[in-house]
Amino acid sequence: MVDVPVLWIIIPCYNEEEVLPVTAPRFLEKLKELIRSGRVSSRSRILFVNDGSSDGTWDFIRQKAEEDEHFSGICLSRNRGHQNALLAGMMEAKDSCDITITIDCDGQDDMNAMDQMVDQYLDGCQIVYGVRSDRSTDTGFKRRTALAYYSLLRHMGVDIVYDHADYRLVSSRVLKEFANFHEVNLFLRGMFPLVGFKSTSVYYKRLERQAGSTHYPLRKMLALAFDGITSLSIKPITMIAGLGGAVSVLGFIGIIWAIVMAAAGHTVSGWASLVCIVCFLGGIQLLSLGIIGEYVGKTYLETKRRPRFIISERAGCPEDADEDDQ
Ligand code: UDP
Ligand code: MG
Repeated sequence: MVDVPVLWIIIPCYNEEEVLPVTAPRFLEKLKELIRSGRVSSRSRILFVNDGSSDGTWDFIRQKAEEDEHFSGICLSRNRGHQNALLAGMMEAKDSCDITITIDCDGQDDMNAMDQMVDQYLDGCQIVYGVRSDRSTDTGFKRRTALAYYSLLRHMGVDIVYDHADYRLVSSRVLKEFANFHEVNLFLRGMFPLVGFKSTSVYYKRLERQAGSTHYPLRKMLALAFDGITSLSIKPITMIAGLGGAVSVLGFIGIIWAIVMAAAGHTVSGWASLVCIVCFLGGIQLLSLGIIGEYVGKTYLETKRRPRFIISERAGCPEDADEDDQ
């Protein structure tokens, strides 16, 4: 059992020179509080990930790292987006700490929820999801679309924690397994449930951005939402195959109807053969597309080369059987 875990708080930053001077001291204060309370080791730290900012963000991070040993930073060579920045931070941290907490740098996620997160880890949970208990700072439109989106994802067979974004505690044990997920299109909140292990949720109130402005305009949000579906589910392809089947049945009925009408002499010449051809081709085309899609979907899943299983514990096995999976 781990006694006092080393925590790394991972904070992605993209053009955040306005908000960092406000929130960085608060993060440090929070970390020191966690250390004082004996929850985490004094070797814990804050890792800023500069996601290719074009303003003074990196200079600020470097300066902070010189001022206080609890601050450190990595700088990505260019802007790779929020999800990639988080991944970079987690991969940087995984061999040097016991737990990581990822949190946005703008102070919207309540840092006080970290105490509970660490407590849950000490109680045996390997992943703790931060869940927004109240969306009153969001517009009605955003609340409704988010609700619809999460239920759509669930219908698509994606296991996702409702109202959880990217504020979460993940142990290094889980991160080492997560490193075997080689996919390039990331939707982290839908991927961690795939890794498994004991997990739980901690609820917090979402606050206002402390300064600066959002980097997630509607366009980027829609792109992330679309990525969520297409990188975790091949259900849309299965739906096309189903539609193909239904159209084929309708086409078959159409053909019989055309033949009956022609036999009864209710048609002009050429009509029945035309209807038969149209129905036949319509059905066969969509069905074929669906079948090809099923193969494309399988190939897509294979190319991700995700681990087929992950062993979480062993009992009575030889010591050197420590390395797991595949
Ligand atoms: N972010 C990033 N790379 C990007 C866009 C955003 O690292 O390309 C970071 C940003 O600095 C912030 C977090 O991701 O810490 C969330 O972004 P933001 O607060 O703008 O999104 P919102 O909370 O409005 O959805
Ligand atoms: Mg924000």
